[in-house]
Amino acid sequence: MSEWVVETRGLVKRYGRLVALNGLDLQVAPGAIGLLGPNGAGKSTLIKCLLRLHRITAGSARVLGAEVQKEGRNIRRRVGYTPEQDCHIPGMVGSEYVTYCAQLCGLPFEAARQRAHEMLDFVGMGQERYRRVDTYSTGMKQRLKLAQAIVHDPEVVFLDEPTNGLDPKGQSQMLRLIQSLWREHGMTVILSTHLLHDVDQVCDQIILLAQGRLLVHDSLEHLKAQRRGAAEVVVSDREEEFAQACRQQGWPSEILSNGHVRVEHGGEDLAPILGVLRQNGLAALEIAPSPNALEEMYVQALETAHGAA
Ligand code: ADP
Repeated sequence: MSEWVVETRGLVKRYGRLVALNGLDLQVAPGAIGLLGPNGAGKSTLIKCLLRLHRITAGSARVLGAEVQKEGRNIRRRVGYTPEQDCHIPGMVGSEYVTYCAQLCGLPFEAARQRAHEMLDFVGMGQERYRRVDTYSTGMKQRLKLAQAIVHDPEVVFLDEPTNGLDPKGQSQMLRLIQSLWREHGMTVILSTHLLHDVDQVCDQIILLAQGRLLVHDSLEHLKAQRRGAAEVVVSDREEEFAQACRQQGWPSEILSNGHVRVEHGGEDLAPILGVLRQNGLAALEIAPSPNALEEMYVQALETAHGAA
């Protein structure tokens, strides 16, 4: 048995000349995994390749120890999936749809119906389950998608942008549900999102993709603990004088394009910076610790993606 939920080696996916995944090497342990990246980073493509909905161009991939190219059917039995787009069947009532999905996974009708209702309860769907899915709000459709993805009690569930289109209340309800899948039910969650907030709320591991490349795969805790020991200071005037005074302390300092002064003072504590301001008769309008490593990397990934667009 493989200890990895997902394992890829040199995974490449091309659509014609476009390289959507560019040689991914991953070994992903069970947990709540955030698949984070700007739009177009390759998140959906990775999920579709892992589910063999798209063919891999080169390299290899395993899910739950099974070779994707050879054992796609076996894998799909053991995983759940919510695609980014709507996946309901027009004209069908919510509860019928989830029952039908459970039957497709091999459950006999009575068991399928019972399990479907349990999952609809789990996602907080009330009497709306007896309405046609076409009449559902986006929030209801997202919850229905989650119910169908877990109706067969999979070992891993792939959720592609499950908070898309939800209002803040709907988002936090959805994130709480997703969080409980791993924490309370031991189901590995692979949550694809372009929102740092989503992974911050739910995940313990992060896979950060940009332009089809793996930028980082690490624990959220480790990434958040890494700060570069820097701060951004907005001084009322005399920025260069302040930057110079900081350099005299041995702290690399630069004036950013927005006029803020970035000071690498090497610690969490902002008091030494306040000391320099005081000694030089300078006033700070604002002083903020630098973002943690994950925030910094994500901003860089967004800027790179924006530059490439
Ligand atoms: P993400 O999920 O991170 O937003 P995608 O995996 O959807 O990224 O897309 C990665 C890249 O592949 C994008 O440039 C996208 O336009 C392209 N792409 C995705 N699906 C297809 C497809 N079926 N045919 C051609 N290009 C595609």
